[in-house]
Amino acid sequence: MFGKTIVFLALTLGHLSAAAHEHGHTGAEATYLGNEAIMVTEDGAKILFDPLFPNGFGIYQMVPSDMRSALMAGEAPYDNVDAIFVSHMHADHFEVGAVIAYLERHLETRLYAPQQAVELMKVETDPDSAIFDRVIGIGLERLDTPETYTLGDIQIDAVRIPHAGWPGRAEISNLVFRATLPDGTTVMHMGDADPNLVHFEPYEDHWNAKRTDTAFPPYWFFLGGDGPLILSQTLNAKTAVGVHVPMVVPADLIASGADYLSVPGETRAVSDAD
Ligand SMILES: [Zn+2]
Repeated sequence: MFGKTIVFLALTLGHLSAAAHEHGHTGAEATYLGNEAIMVTEDGAKILFDPLFPNGFGIYQMVPSDMRSALMAGEAPYDNVDAIFVSHMHADHFEVGAVIAYLERHLETRLYAPQQAVELMKVETDPDSAIFDRVIGIGLERLDTPETYTLGDIQIDAVRIPHAGWPGRAEISNLVFRATLPDGTTVMHMGDADPNLVHFEPYEDHWNAKRTDTAFPPYWFFLGGDGPLILSQTLNAKTAVGVHVPMVVPADLIASGADYLSVPGETRAVSDAD
């Protein structure tokens, strides 16, 4: 009886992994670190979004200190990071000194960040530092054509979508990144995007050019404005998992039934075998 169960399990797992391969997905995974900090891993790649920030304002989840120390030290599972992405320069997303220190220590890692954030780094350290050879400052203006980048087998694009509260804070460059890993899995990180269709409609061709497996919107996209419509129809994303969730999870978010990440260390399978 016991032996039969083992054989059955082995056959089932074999079938599942074969099915995954047929669809070109081999199990990319997202790990939640805090606020909008996410690590996405796949066999050939590892990327981080908004991982180093100094302030949760007492509301948002900080990256736990043990996790942050391991990340800064490059200890597994935070070793060999291909790229760090910064959505915008607010203190719950970006810490100038920590990002500089990280790049000084991890020569294999590239940084993609708004030019505004890069300018802050150049005030904080020698602007001729060799780290800037691995820094891609993105100087997009609102309604500019998206930028695209290739990093090894990783395809990246960025578009500037205004920060929540628009037209307030319009001067803050908030970037929506889309990254396709070597196995074809595509993720989207939205920073603190404003949930208003007027920002997203001009980029219809951009969203439709590539199917996103999992988008990571700030949780307010599930709750108001055009957020639900943008997630379900505009972005061309199969699934959405909320981030930037307050430590005291809003009752209306729980009631919405939306999926979200709020506990450091939580994971989600990113690839979708359909
Ligand atoms: Zn924020």
